[in-house]
Amino acid sequence: MPPADRAARDKPTLDPAAFLSGGGEMGALMRAHDWEATELGAPGGWPLSLKNTLRLLLGSHHPMYIWWGPELIQFYNDAYRATLDDRRHPASLGQPGRAWWEEASPLIGPEIEGIMAGGPATWHEHRLVPLLRNGVLSDAWWTYGFSPIEDEEGVRGVLVVCNDVTGAHLDRLALEEVNARLAREVAERQRAEAELAAAKARSDSALEEVSRRSEQRRRLYETFLSHTPDLAYVFDLEHRFTYANEVLLAMWGRNWDESIGKTCLELGYEPWHAEMHGREIEQVKATRAPIKGTVPFNGTFGRRMYEYIFVPVIGPDGEVEAVAGTTRDVTERLQAEEAIRRNEERFRSLIEASTQVVWHCGPDGAMEADSPTWRAYTGQSYDEWKGFGWVDAVHPDDRAASLAQWRACMREGRVYEAEQRVRAASGGWRWTAARAVPIFNQDGSVREWVGTTTDVHDRRQAELERQRFVSLAERSEDFIGMCDLELRPFFLNRAAVRLVGADSLEEALATPVDDYFFPEDRAFLVEEFLPRVAREGHSEAELRMRHFRTGAALWMIYTVYVIRDADGNPEGYATVSRDITGRKLAEERLRQASVDLAAANKRKTQFLATLAHELRNPLAPLRTGLDLMQLPGASQEASARARAMMDRQLRQMVHLIDDLMDIARIDSGKIELKRERVALNAVIASAIEGVTPAVQAAGHTLDLDLPDPADGALWLDADPTRLAQVLANLLTNACKYTPPGGRIRLSARREDGAAVIAVRDDGIGIPPESLEGVFEMFSQVSQNIGRAQGGLGIGLALVRSLVQMHGGTITAASAGEGQGSTFTLRLPLPPQLPAGQDAGAGAVRAAAGARDAGALRILVADDNRDAATMLAAVLGARGHGVTLAHDGDGALALARETAFDLLILDIGMPGMSGYELARAVRRLPHQAGALLAAHTGWGTEHDRQQAYAAGFDAHLTKPAGLDEIDALLGRLAGRN
Ligand code: ADP
Repeated sequence: MPPADRAARDKPTLDPAAFLSGGGEMGALMRAHDWEATELGAPGGWPLSLKNTLRLLLGSHHPMYIWWGPELIQFYNDAYRATLDDRRHPASLGQPGRAWWEEASPLIGPEIEGIMAGGPATWHEHRLVPLLRNGVLSDAWWTYGFSPIEDEEGVRGVLVVCNDVTGAHLDRLALEEVNARLAREVAERQRAEAELAAAKARSDSALEEVSRRSEQRRRLYETFLSHTPDLAYVFDLEHRFTYANEVLLAMWGRNWDESIGKTCLELGYEPWHAEMHGREIEQVKATRAPIKGTVPFNGTFGRRMYEYIFVPVIGPDGEVEAVAGTTRDVTERLQAEEAIRRNEERFRSLIEASTQVVWHCGPDGAMEADSPTWRAYTGQSYDEWKGFGWVDAVHPDDRAASLAQWRACMREGRVYEAEQRVRAASGGWRWTAARAVPIFNQDGSVREWVGTTTDVHDRRQAELERQRFVSLAERSEDFIGMCDLELRPFFLNRAAVRLVGADSLEEALATPVDDYFFPEDRAFLVEEFLPRVAREGHSEAELRMRHFRTGAALWMIYTVYVIRDADGNPEGYATVSRDITGRKLAEERLRQASVDLAAANKRKTQFLATLAHELRNPLAPLRTGLDLMQLPGASQEASARARAMMDRQLRQMVHLIDDLMDIARIDSGKIELKRERVALNAVIASAIEGVTPAVQAAGHTLDLDLPDPADGALWLDADPTRLAQVLANLLTNACKYTPPGGRIRLSARREDGAAVIAVRDDGIGIPPESLEGVFEMFSQVSQNIGRAQGGLGIGLALVRSLVQMHGGTITAASAGEGQGSTFTLRLPLPPQLPAGQDAGAGAVRAAAGARDAGALRILVADDNRDAATMLAAVLGARGHGVTLAHDGDGALALARETAFDLLILDIGMPGMSGYELARAVRRLPHQAGALLAAHTGWGTEHDRQQAYAAGFDAHLTKPAGLDEIDALLGRLAGRN
């Protein structure tokens, strides 16, 4: 310390800027600075905190800096000055700070302002704060801290203690770079070492592989050589064997040790042989070229032929170091070659000797080799024939086709086949068949062609003829066939197959001829007919053939010829047969017709006899009746009986004659139906009415099963009179052919748009064989004659004609004699009428409103529906309106509504009885004029009394006869 300084420190001084003493260059500059010009004013007035800090700053060798006051007036010491360039030093001293550190202000500005605002001190190490130095923005790293300078007035400034560590920082970066490089190099070296180790491992295994392979190859050669059928061996340059394979040792019959190192001579080869090989080994050595040879050898395999080859073995120095050889046993091959050669010779001589034309040519199809047979057949010379000269011998019309085909076959290497006419040496064109086959090389190309030409002229001619025959035969509608002597067919035309109904020609051909006929005709065929054909050359018969499928007979005119061979010996039979089935059928029909005619004639004669008888029958009683009436003493009563009898007989006759006339009218087409819409029940009623006397006379019961009129009537478009006649006829027959006391049933129903009416009886029945015939004119079942009672066998014929005229059908059925008969009639129903119209027509004109003048309103009440229906039908047929009820309550309800003229009431009915009903009706005022009739099975006097007591006016016992009913109606006559 210079004395002056020491004095200044030691002695108290009054210099107000004494705190700026010392401090090197910066101290001097601060002292010299004109502070008066700044906001700080003269240093003497500066706050103590600034003064103290400046003292610290100037006294320190550590770089320090101060920003003071709101303007951030700048101070720094010498140590700091070293970091400033000439732009900032010394000009920035005492200046407001913000303008001077613009480039750093984004980094440090907020920090300074934070501290000035009372924030905590900060500290940074190695922080990059780039600064402009000499006009260039350069990276600078700092370790620094900002601390507040405080006094009682608060924070007044910022003290910066800092170190420019740029150098150290860059050194550190360099060091890090070096370290990184070093690490990379180390890693690189480690990788290289690893690769080296891997490469070594690979080369080791490759080496191993190579030695394994060469060992394998050695084994392969060893195996190969010891298993090949060829002999393999090696000679050294002194002709000694150094290697011999297993076969060779075996052929020698020696082992390895006995053989190796020996020469051929030492091994027992014949001297000439050993010497020959010696020469050859020398030649190979000298020329270095292989040598081949063939030699016989007698070894353990016997005497065999061997083919061998010696080759030089060249050493690494390029010199021949050994001679290797292989030998093959060619004994078989040589033998085969010899055999082929002999075959070829044989083939050649065969061709030369053949009568067939044989030829062969090269792959191009041009003839080269001579063909003596072709020359002989055609008369062409070799020169004319060779190449394609043969074409000249072919017929001009066949040439182009033959040649084109020949060329195509050559191109495609396929078999050539052609039929062509060739000029024969014998003169004229003859048909030939040429055929050539290609012979191929190993590679599939054609080596040559071998061909034959065959004379087929005669065969072809025969074939043409045969074809002509076949096409003729096939077109024929006649059965044409041929068979051998054993009756096996070998030719059948289409018509034959069709006629016998075979499925196929094969089936027909497989069927022996005698199976074409019926078993019963075979004896004739085989024993009589065919021998006659054989004897006479041909014969004819009418025979039935058998249809294979249906078994039906085919009538044939069977014309048969013998077929003879060239020597005239019989070979078989031929037939041309004609189907005459149609003619036979016509004959049969004719025959049947004449039989039928004869039968009809017989029936007619019989009929005439019957007719005469039937007409004559009534005459006797009539005659007697007349005589009786003419008797002077004849009583009134006797005359009346005679009249009644005569009336009956007359009626019968009239009936008979009516039938006869009807038949005659039908036959001559004169009968005409008077069709109208009628209710079936009405027709039935009128039929019943007609037959009732006969039914009653025979004591039969007639049951009815009719549709209830309440369910709607069955309406027909029919002639009511004719239809009633039909039904009456059937009912009459039922009466006639049923023993007294029988049961007859008439039923009617609707079925499939038809009215079906059946009349059944339990009478004598009809045998099955007569069922068909009963509808024939004049037919009478023979067993029934006698019961005919005036029948002529025309009733059913008439019935059938009338039914057919109505568009209906009739059938008869009977289980047989004594089993009764049923006649069933089917009549088509007309389209349904609209419901209202149907109802309006009413059940058998039953509706009371639709009454004719004189017609009565009648209520029939009976729980037996058939009885009620029957009665209603009878009343309806008389033109009255009938209403039906089937119980007492129903009847009363009807009676309440309608005023009836007549009520016929059954007594025993469910619910209300007939008596109760009568009493109830009697109480109805509007029924006051009605006639009440009881209709009951109870017929004693007591019953009658009871009925009258109940209010009935009449009593009818069931079944009421027609006359009783008429009597009842008579009581009401003239009422309406
Ligand atoms: P016929 O006048 O002889 O009765 P038909 O033509 O009416 O002639 O009948 C032909 C024959 O049919 C009768 O002779 C009789 O043998 C037989 N036949 C008809 N109806 C019946 C019947 N219901 N039962 C048995 N046989 C009958």
